[in-house]
Amino acid sequence: MSTISASQEQAAVEAIPKRLYIGGEWRDPSGGATLAVEDPSTGETLAEVADATPDDSRAALDACVAVQAEWAAHPPRERGEILRRAWEGINERADELALVMTLEMGKPLAESKAEITYAAEFFRWFAEEAVRIEGRFATAPNGQGRLITMRQPVGPCYAITPWNFPMAMGTRKIGPAVAAGCTMVIKPAQQTPLSMLALVQILEQAGLPAGVLNLVMSSSSGDVSAPLIADPRLRKLTFTGSTEVGRKLIEQSAAGVLRTSMELGGNAPFLVFADADVDAAVEGAVIAKMRNIGEACTAANRFHVAAQLQDEFTEKLAAKLGDMRVGRGTDEGVKVGPLIDGTQRDKVSELVRDATGKGAQAVVGGAAREGAGYFYEPTVLAGVSADARLLKEEIFGPVAPVIGFDDEEAAIAAANDTEFGLVAYVYTSDLKRAFRVIEGLETGMVGLNQGMVSNPAAPFGGVKASGFGREGGNEGIGEYLETKYVAMAL
Ligand code: NAP
Repeated sequence: MSTISASQEQAAVEAIPKRLYIGGEWRDPSGGATLAVEDPSTGETLAEVADATPDDSRAALDACVAVQAEWAAHPPRERGEILRRAWEGINERADELALVMTLEMGKPLAESKAEITYAAEFFRWFAEEAVRIEGRFATAPNGQGRLITMRQPVGPCYAITPWNFPMAMGTRKIGPAVAAGCTMVIKPAQQTPLSMLALVQILEQAGLPAGVLNLVMSSSSGDVSAPLIADPRLRKLTFTGSTEVGRKLIEQSAAGVLRTSMELGGNAPFLVFADADVDAAVEGAVIAKMRNIGEACTAANRFHVAAQLQDEFTEKLAAKLGDMRVGRGTDEGVKVGPLIDGTQRDKVSELVRDATGKGAQAVVGGAAREGAGYFYEPTVLAGVSADARLLKEEIFGPVAPVIGFDDEEAAIAAANDTEFGLVAYVYTSDLKRAFRVIEGLETGMVGLNQGMVSNPAAPFGGVKASGFGREGGNEGIGEYLETKYVAMAL
């Protein structure tokens, strides 16, 4: 049962603007069309929002270009204070924003609230970073000149974000861009535009000048994006989404030698060594697997467990996942919401079918739920064969395959046997082993005895096919700055 009434849900959705935001104005799209936003727990339409055309995205870039120079010269302290006010604005509306996020994306309310806090923290962090953009001064090695570097905003940026973290993937790009003095066009995924619309409204209310941030959402993301990527006035593309789309965008960016940051897909290994605290590893596994219904780039995709612990770990994990209540994210006690759409649910079903067809057994779960909404049962698979597709592909759902390993070397080799390299999780109580393993892992991030790594103060990002560039931390603002070197003769 939900403690939230249908009229409260409706009021929260109605409070969100539905139009494009260009040059400081909420505008109807030039084609007059709308796109429907669906509630994945029912399949029903929640709202209709403006559907941008390529003319609208060009107008959004025009707005960026018009104010770029002025914004770059805006005092850093004031840029930071706008972000700080937006951090407060998000927190003041946290309950209402969490409800909207749950309605459009499906995750349980408690997880939406956690994302709202996480999203807001990027603004607080980058509000602080805005006044710490520094250069260097050095004496040339021959003693005869001076070497000076300064850091300047990259210029107009285009940001494309996914549906799985509808607000945090936005703040992690908008925060550093605003702090650095860049202007931006942002395009959320068509499944979850409402959270981004609310975020842009909060920034407007926090005093962000017209033209600095412009929002377009569209049912034809390729069509509205291509003209921007090809436009020589655009200086940076920042993308979070699948590796498949990231590859296409890198190709398109090559023509203009456009600077890019790519936060792409993952296939995180979760390693449990024989000396690990099994209960702690199971706790961590639940977080690493089940956060966001398994629809996180950081989701543990496969569990590699020391052979002697394999049965115990599998049983304990199955017991925990089997206890997690599946349902609409607004209902009390629900821990697992629906997947984002029918395509995602069918993909998860197909991966599980492939694994069981090759000999795996579902210790718990193993099926999609019948009826309305795109629900899939929390699932633990044992006896997974090495050629099962879900060991190689990103599952993006609540499915945990457990496989055994014999020694440390085999564990590292198995962990690295993927084209992806975003994050890995390591459970061990042996410090020396921890460092040997961490150094051997081909990933941008490692969770050591913990099932979550995300933190606005830390550099988030991957290697290999998981992309390049870092978001958050001191590194995050560097993605929006160019270094200019001045050679000075004395
Ligand atoms: P996606 O299909 O790649 O879409 C991501 C974004 O790209 C959406 O806004 C989408 O818009 C847009 N898009 C799709 N095709 C495009 C094109 N041809 N040109 C321009 N834009 C295009 O990914 P998703 O399914 O939304 O998100 C899940 C993926 O994101 C997973 O692979 C996950 O691992 C990854 N992810 C990575 C990170 C990270 O930090 N590494 C974080 C979160 C998620 P429409 O959907 O509206 O078409």
